[in-house]
Formats: sequence, C-alpha cells, structure tokens
Amino acid sequence: MKQSLRDLIIVGAGPVGSHLAEKMAEKDLDVLIIERSDEVGRPLACSGHVSPDIWNFVPEEKREELEQNQIRGARFHAEDDSEFRFYKEEETVSYVIDRVRLDKVKAKEAEKAGAELHLGETVKSVDEEGEFVSVETDKDSYRAKIVAGCDGAQSKVREETGLPDPDHFYQGILCFTDEEDCQDFVDVFLEVPSFFGWRIPRGDSVEYGAAVPKGETPMKWLDRITERYVDSDERKDFCAGAIPIQPPETVTSDRVFLVGDAAGQTKPFTGGGILYGMRCAETASQTVEVEEPRTLEDYENGWRSSLNKDIMLGGFIENFYSWPTMLQKMPLNIFQGEIGVHMDHPTSLFSLNHLKSFLKRN
Ligand SMILES: Cc1cc2nc3c(=O)[nH]c(=O)nc-3n(C[C@H](O)[C@H](O)[C@H](O)COP(=O)(O)OP(=O)(O)OC[C@H]3O[C@@H](n4cnc5c(N)ncnc54)[C@H](O)[C@@H]3O)c2cc1C
Repeated sequence: MKQSLRDLIIVGAGPVGSHLAEKMAEKDLDVLIIERSDEVGRPLACSGHVSPDIWNFVPEEKREELEQNQIRGARFHAEDDSEFRFYKEEETVSYVIDRVRLDKVKAKEAEKAGAELHLGETVKSVDEEGEFVSVETDKDSYRAKIVAGCDGAQSKVREETGLPDPDHFYQGILCFTDEEDCQDFVDVFLEVPSFFGWRIPRGDSVEYGAAVPKGETPMKWLDRITERYVDSDERKDFCAGAIPIQPPETVTSDRVFLVGDAAGQTKPFTGGGILYGMRCAETASQTVEVEEPRTLEDYENGWRSSLNKDIMLGGFIENFYSWPTMLQKMPLNIFQGEIGVHMDHPTSLFSLNHLKSFLKRN
C-alpha cells in the first residue's frame, strides 16, 4: 500500500529531535518522530551539565525533577597537579540535570503538541526522490516532504544523504559512584591528551568522565582520574559515546536537513551540544517551510549566524588542551579567579560583565 505523504519526519528523539518536533507540531504540521531505542533517553551517554539557558527549553513545573545540582565554578587541574579555580561569586554558572529525564520530558512535550512518536524503529535508508523523501526503517516505509536528521553524532541520515561529516570526533566515556557530593564545583583534568577529563558532583552520586581523540584509549584516562578518588570496584554504570566537533560546510540538501550532534552543533571546548542543538532546532522551526524546500537555506544561514562566532572562538579554546603544561599554566594563572562569562558563549570573554570581574580581582 502506498504510504501517505507526511509533512516532516524527524529521525531521533533526543532533546534536539523532540524540541524540533514540538515546535513544528505547534504549527499544525503532521510530524512523525522515528526513534530506534525502545525507551527515550536510553542508553545514556551524557553528563547533562548545562548552562542556566536550559530552563528556557523545559516547562517550569518540570524543573524540580530535572535539577540535580547547581555549579558555581570549576577547578582546573594541570598535569603537574597545580590547581586553578574559575567561579562566579554569587551566581549559578551551570546546572547538573537528569539527562534521561530531560529526553523523556522533551518527547512528552512533542507528543502533547501533536507529534507522533514511533519507538523501537531504526531508520535504514533515506532517499530524496524529487518531490518527496522516502524513509525505510526495519519495520516500515514512509514518505515525507522534508526529513530532519536529529540522529546524533553517527547520523545515518547524514550518511544516507551524502552530507559531509563534522570535522573531528572525540570518544567520551563516563561512570558513576555512590559518593554523596553536593559541592558547587566541578573538576577538570588537563592531563588527558587533546581534550579533558572531569568529575561532576550530582548530589547523591558523582560522575567521572574523560574524552579523548581517536587512537587513544578512553578507559586508560578514566582510570587515572578515578583512582585519585575511589577504588575501581566502586565505579558503575559505564557508558560511552562520540562527540562531534566543528560542523561540516553544509548540513542541508534538497529536502533533508541535520540538527544537533548530527550537524556537529556542539561547543568545541566542552563537546556540550544539548543547548546549541536545541537552539538550532528553534531556528529550524522558525525558518523551514515544508512546502518550500528552498527555505532549508534560511535554516543553514540562520543557525550559522547565531552560532558561528562562538563555535570559532570555541575552536581556539579547544586548541589550548593540546598545549604543553607550562604554556597552559600561563593563561590559567592570568585569568583564574572570578569570571563573568556565560558557559555557552565564549564570546562573552569580551563582555563588560567579564571585564568587570577581571578588574575587580586585579
Ligand atoms: C560522554 C559524553 C558526555 C556529554 N556531556 C554533555 C554535557 O554535559 N552537556 C551537554 O550539553 N552535552 C554533553 N554531551 C553531548 C550531548 O550528549 C549531545 O550534544 C546531545 O545528546 C545531542 O542531542 P541530539 O538530540 O542531537 O542527539 P542524541 O541525544 O544523540 O539523540 C539522537 C537520537 O537518535 C536516535 N537514533 C540514532 N540513529 C537512529 C536511526 N538510524 N534510527 C532511529 N533513531 C536513531 C538515537 O537513539 C538517539 O535517541 C556529552 C556527550 C558525551 C558522549
């Protein structure tokens, strides 16, 4: 039987796909989300460490169930064990949230807005066929006017459409312990090659993690970090995932567009992509008209003009992780102390707010 023509098929019910689905369904479009996992949010491969902007993307009444801890600053540990603190005196810099729950909340909001969600169904092929796009899954076949690939770092939609990959990937690994820790500082370990390791207090647990470039063994670096704090048998719930860095030159084709990790829309100096991805989903919902595929170009221009500067500057900061320890310690020494930056916007390093904090301590 010939399938009906959907307005929009979104592949992937991560935070980005669900946010896009919610916004597009609110425009009264016929939106189908196809998610390969049987349970939204699982398997987990994320710390859920986000800026306060997260609260612009979830309903106020869900905040309490998502929030696990508030963070005011970070201790950076150089390879020689010297320590540098960056913090805000009276303000929350970031939140540690329940990432599995975030995905579930966002998927529910999408369904409430009218999107249809198919769980446990994997997209196998995507073909642009002139006036529509065919999508084959392991269970069924569909047709849509437009398809959005929100299917993460190793995007099948990107591969099927022949769109280029993000510039490079890190491999992230993390695990948890039952330590109770509500302190308001995270720890960042710079001995990890090219990127970093971390310790995040989550209230009734602690998360340890490391992200490394291809060719390195993530577990080796996770072992090195955790052994300072806990015995290896106290660690549990290991998980891992790829982190795309630097978007490719284009994330749109005739009738397909990518959003979120699929498009490499992450912060190059942390790998964080929840908020950049949801911001880009918002841009897509404001620019893409399913009857006018040419509007995909407006999406491409729109998200780039909103994120380009931060991603470019973020790339410079990412290089810092590869510097020799002696060099790394110079900027750490100069800039340590109170900060006035927004963690999603490295361009705020040049803001009046940050300048004031810098002058206050010098
Ligand atoms: C170790 C680690 C720690 C991280 N920590 C943070 C952090 O603290 N803060 C932060 O902001 N970011 C963090 N990130 C990055 C963050 O997880 C991603 O940026 C974010 O998940 C991107 O959301 P997304 O919706 O684009 O993709 P995803 O969350 O990856 O969602 C993609 C969805 O698509 C589905 N899918 C994939 N292929 C198919 C297919 N063929 N058919 C159907 N469905 C499919 C997947 O099952 C998944 O549900 C971390 C990443 C890693 C690896």
